[in-house]
Amino acid sequence: MSTSVSANPFTDSPAVGLICRNCQATYPLAAQHACWQCFGPLEVDYDAAALASVTRADIEAGPNNIWRYARLLPAGVDPATRVTLDPGMTPLVRADNLAAELGMKTLWVKDDSANPTHSFKDRVVSVALTAASRLGFDRYACASTGNLANSVAAHAARAGKPSVVFIPHDLEAGKVVTTAVYGGQLVAIEGSYDDVNRLCSELTETDDFESTAFVNVNVRPYYAEGSKTLGYEVAEQLGWRIPEQVVVPMASGELLTKVDKAFEELVEIGLVPEGRSRVFGAQSQGCNPIATALRNGTDEIVPVKPTGIAKSLNIGDPAAGPYAIEAVRRSGGWMADVTDAEIREGIRLLARTTGIFAETAGGVVVATLKKLLAEGRLDPAAETVVYNTGEGLKTLDAVSDAGATHRIRPSLQDARKAGLLPSGI
Ligand SMILES: *Cc1c(COP(=O)(O)O)cnc(C)c1O
Repeated sequence: MSTSVSANPFTDSPAVGLICRNCQATYPLAAQHACWQCFGPLEVDYDAAALASVTRADIEAGPNNIWRYARLLPAGVDPATRVTLDPGMTPLVRADNLAAELGMKTLWVKDDSANPTHSFKDRVVSVALTAASRLGFDRYACASTGNLANSVAAHAARAGKPSVVFIPHDLEAGKVVTTAVYGGQLVAIEGSYDDVNRLCSELTETDDFESTAFVNVNVRPYYAEGSKTLGYEVAEQLGWRIPEQVVVPMASGELLTKVDKAFEELVEIGLVPEGRSRVFGAQSQGCNPIATALRNGTDEIVPVKPTGIAKSLNIGDPAAGPYAIEAVRRSGGWMADVTDAEIREGIRLLARTTGIFAETAGGVVVATLKKLLAEGRLDPAAETVVYNTGEGLKTLDAVSDAGATHRIRPSLQDARKAGLLPSGI
């Protein structure tokens, strides 16, 4: 399960080990993701003093990408060892038209479709593969709902390493083509994402995959930390403060958990004033195990068989679900789930009011924002950031009934007949 290393390859990072989220057992920094005592998930443990020594000026002097936060991440600060497409510092877009339409005061969209492979997954893959490469792995792999596949294949191509990517067989063409184009092995599995994930867990235990890093399996603790940068960046882009409310899409629930963790860290380190963001989670009704558990007043996740158009979020047995519920409860937030029709409408609403074309996961977030406002869970007067985590061009089918509003011959007369010259001049 673990690749043992003779020396700590992370001496230039604030990470000191791995720690079990459930029983707090500690382990050295290695490729291990589950606790040997209680089987709980492991996460990166940091030297609190090293984190506390980081200043705003240090960060602001760094590169215009996620590596400006290298001293808050487990992958090390030496640029020469990075396996990366340099993602991050994506636009934080003020969404006044959308706010007006929803009756809100201050609304922002963090647009992570602007990353190199057009989703937030470039952040987690850059951190995971940089750590993996330091741990001695020389082949890169993942179990993916689509966007992770794009990102792992592209990172491997940039690094000149082989990749093997596992996906469910029924993904959108916009996710398959945009993975295959980078070369590498692409394995379509006749089953759901949860079947793909189970197979990948089994593969990591075999001799033939001993030197293969599965970004979201054996090096998952490092992968998860990459999501923190979506919290750090929003705080920095707001002028070093934390928004009052955030709405985050959930697949495994990891992103939401880490955005919350990032905000907490920033307060602890003293980089932002005291405060807390109410964290809200978004799922589709085709795959809503986390939102359902929260509504039922439990943190026991009952796995579902995912359906519906929000395929990038279709994880039926979400590993970080209980932690997402805990973060939402602790912060005073809530969750909602939305239908495919609401997702399509959410994509259109965001596009029409902000000029941002989101994939289905973005539609889930905007539709959830609307629903939480209608339910009175979200405060329309509080400053709110919604996360768009992916690009609309990858899920074109979701809005494929959109097309030309007029079709005419190239003549003024036709333009007039079509009503394009209403003043008649
Ligand atoms: C993977 C993914 C998410 C959610 O990720 P988790 O950390 O597994 O909850 C959200 N949006 C998009 C577009 C994704 O690809």
